[in-house]
Amino acid sequence: MTGTYRHGRTYCQATGCQARVRRAAEIELPVAWEQDREYTTLTVLVGLCAHHGREIDRRVQALLSARSVLPALLTVIDCAIQTEGDQHQRLCDLQAQLDVAEAALAAQGVENGEMAAVHEMVVMLARGPEAGGAA
Ligand SMILES: [Zn+2]
Repeated sequence: MTGTYRHGRTYCQATGCQARVRRAAEIELPVAWEQDREYTTLTVLVGLCAHHGREIDRRVQALLSARSVLPALLTVIDCAIQTEGDQHQRLCDLQAQLDVAEAALAAQGVENGEMAAVHEMVVMLARGPEAGGAA
């Protein structure tokens, strides 16, 4: 049994800890995890020993730090999704142009092996220089 008043003493409320309470630690819990930069917290006071008091302080700071950078991280993710969507659309457009070009080559009697080489070259160009391609 932890976090209780026993035999005239109050014990740390960390599960399994048998030490006596040394201080009241404030645990600030963000109420919402959304894109808003401003947020409110619900503060809970917990009686803890010195060790768990330091541990809770460290974890609360990490939690609040994560909450404060969340809007920036969500913005980065939104931008990445937009970029990915733009690149996907560009690739679809290029694929459609390639289909037309292949049909035109086929109509002119170009061999399948030659069309495959042209297809590979167009796909490599569509992926851009950062995708490699140097063999
Ligand atoms: Zn403790």
